[in-house]
Amino acid sequence: MRNLVEVSNVGKHVAKSSIDTALAAEKYRARVINVERRQLLISRIAGSQQVGDLMIPPNCEGLGRVRHFKRATSPGWPSNPLPIDPACISLGIPFQEVLTAQVFQNAACAWRCWYCFVPYALLAGDEKRGAWSTAEELVDLYMKEVNRPSVVDLSGGSPDLTPEWVVWTMNALQERGLVNQVYLWSDDNLSTDYLWTMLSARELDVLRSYRSYGRVACFKGFDESSFAFNTHARPQAFGLQFDRFKRLLDLEIDLYAYVTLTSPDIASISAGVPAFLDRLQEIHENLPLRTIPLRISTFSPVTARMTAERTASLCGQEQAIKAWNHEIERRFSSDMRQRRVTEVRFDHVAR
Ligand code: SF4
Repeated sequence: MRNLVEVSNVGKHVAKSSIDTALAAEKYRARVINVERRQLLISRIAGSQQVGDLMIPPNCEGLGRVRHFKRATSPGWPSNPLPIDPACISLGIPFQEVLTAQVFQNAACAWRCWYCFVPYALLAGDEKRGAWSTAEELVDLYMKEVNRPSVVDLSGGSPDLTPEWVVWTMNALQERGLVNQVYLWSDDNLSTDYLWTMLSARELDVLRSYRSYGRVACFKGFDESSFAFNTHARPQAFGLQFDRFKRLLDLEIDLYAYVTLTSPDIASISAGVPAFLDRLQEIHENLPLRTIPLRISTFSPVTARMTAERTASLCGQEQAIKAWNHEIERRFSSDMRQRRVTEVRFDHVAR
């Protein structure tokens, strides 16, 4: 069997170990899904290192947590309307500054981003740190919570390792008559093509036609070097993120993006950030306005992973966001920039 890691050079940055994304994804998918039984390995948040970062204790028998999504961010950074605005529109409620969501995390990810707020132990598909559950069981646990939020967020880990999870959850919500009461949101790490290779045409149809659903896909870095630095994955996987995003857009689902802007090479920002925006606009000219840059900060599991280079990249992201803001201003009219993220349309994507 080939190794999952190799040594590689990307520009000035030397990655100590680079994950072969396809191999790692295959390995971890096998650990966290049983298609026959329709079960997923869900991380047990209770008792994990993540608990220290939670505002309220884990719920759903230790398998869930409530996340507070906040629109306000840090000075100099764009506000973050995700998933607040799409959820409020879908639920027919006024726009909020803070929105709570019921989060479940699948128990694996192919990548090892140094800034990941999930402990690596909860990314390895370890049965001792999770529980096998069906989507129906998770929805039932959620429904038993007294003060449950109206948003369910399928997170990870890497939900794109187990695309069935989203469809099974849609089925479960539908069977319980909850489609109009619960907004479903899911994360996508753009690390696999499993959505197209693992789901049947019928399952894809469910995904495409479900009314109260939004998906956010995260670009990990603005160029190959920052991607490899952030994820520990081989740099070639950077470009595949764009191909996958384009395919997601072609499904005509309600789709958004995040990007992280940490890089080992501060000098690359001035050319790298505009080039990243160019690539987004090759997919759709409005895509940058549906893309929210995320400022990296250090949660409990991250502290022990910090190095001088990573610390420097936290400062570098402050330069990168200035370049991002400058480009957004240069590329879009003030009318476009003032629109809510939900009002930025992809209407004229060539299909
Ligand atoms: S892709 Fe997401 S879940 Fe995976 S390591 Fe990176 S931040 Fe964590």
